[in-house]
Amino acid sequence: MLFHSTRGGDNQKTFEQVLMQGLANDGGLFMPDFWPKVNIDDLRNLESFVDVAKYIVPLFTDSSFNKDEVEELLDKTWHNFDKKDLINIIEINEKISILELFHGPTAAFKDFGLQLAAAFFNKTLENLNKTAIVFGATSGDTGSAAIDACKNFDLIKSFILIPEGGMSEIQRKQMTTVDKENVFPILVDGTFDDCQDIVKKGFKERKFLQDNQYLLAVNSINWVRIIGQICYYFFVSLKINKFSEPLNYSVPTGNFGNVFACYAASKMGMPLSKIVVAVNSNDIMDRFFRNNDYSKEKVNETISPSMDISVASNFERLLYDLYLDRDSDSCSKFYSTFPETGIELNDRIWEKSSALFLSYSSDDNATYERMKFYFKNYNYIMDPHTAVAADAVENLKEKLDYKTIILSTAHPAKFPNAIKDAELSIENLPKKLNDVLNKEEVAKKLSYKDNSIFDYIKRNN
Ligand SMILES: *Cc1c(COP(=O)(O)O)cnc(C)c1O
Repeated sequence: MLFHSTRGGDNQKTFEQVLMQGLANDGGLFMPDFWPKVNIDDLRNLESFVDVAKYIVPLFTDSSFNKDEVEELLDKTWHNFDKKDLINIIEINEKISILELFHGPTAAFKDFGLQLAAAFFNKTLENLNKTAIVFGATSGDTGSAAIDACKNFDLIKSFILIPEGGMSEIQRKQMTTVDKENVFPILVDGTFDDCQDIVKKGFKERKFLQDNQYLLAVNSINWVRIIGQICYYFFVSLKINKFSEPLNYSVPTGNFGNVFACYAASKMGMPLSKIVVAVNSNDIMDRFFRNNDYSKEKVNETISPSMDISVASNFERLLYDLYLDRDSDSCSKFYSTFPETGIELNDRIWEKSSALFLSYSSDDNATYERMKFYFKNYNYIMDPHTAVAADAVENLKEKLDYKTIILSTAHPAKFPNAIKDAELSIENLPKKLNDVLNKEEVAKKLSYKDNSIFDYIKRNN
């Protein structure tokens, strides 16, 4: 399996190249050259999450790693989860189940993709006898999952920029309290966008790098993260009904990576009825699915901060694959003027999505109400991101046949203010989160306004 860019300028790449490069050279996103098909009868006989992963992951990695190597790697990839099968499924009623994806070490679903990314980064660095710097900015859960996933690999140093403010205390402390020689959390006196600009500059100039050293990104466009997420869609289908009937999935959506993994699983053969794209008041995806309007607006701060985005980067993959039938010239044309010009498709083309996708946008009020409703009726406390997905299901239920799976992407204890404002309370904080709260913050405080961040990286590299 080789990979190519959605914009046509970067082709014939191996898995390893795509892994280490992240973004394609022409600014596009990497896609597999074709959708590998699964044999559902084979999958039905599997037992564990890792069994499923051992079936799915090699379909994408055979250009760089043989099957035995990958299986050995996968035995050690996902670690420090509270559940033996990594996930937990809560049946709410006949029509609805909640898929809890937050039992990993950082209590958000990003552990699935980033632990897989880190394992393959490390394996590649070992094979090539090189080292790497992970450099990224975070507005929430990505940074902590990246730090945690990379911290035990000595060949990788992580420098993560954390904007002061914007995220919850637990989210911040999950990064700022990590005291390890190869981890460098940096508190920055600016916004997430200021941090992003510094990261972009760093990737362009690459001045702090040593010879023969990789600079790795951990943002959600890396294909390896999508692979990690495809695995749990197949696994939950197996657990719920052994693929006997299609399911609906309601996905709390920001950068569209999780939704795209669901779409990818269906292209590979997983039975699927509808994907519900659930967003907060940052509604670019809802505007697109409802009105064929994909245009950038400014970011609103909400109580589900990990979905506060102005554009959904992984949407480019869906545009390319579903709407444009993999015509990279058209895709490239759309993105040559985006975001200055919004994307509006020919109506006939736009209608292609209606068979598979539904969308809904919930504001903070509706999110609080949904959290209260689930506690009152089902004695279940959900985090605000999950509540956005649950609210979409309630509002779209007339359009949903079959069973619906609500993806729960974070543990509610990560968002104590939202829980309190919904007049709920969490009795038992998970030990791993409680430990974090009681630790000392060790992050370096630096300014984005001068060269101090790059100097700091260089000094510690
Ligand atoms: C990252 C994140 C999301 C959004 O996922 P995308 O793949 O970017 O759409 C939703 N919920 C939580 C808790 C997250 O951390």
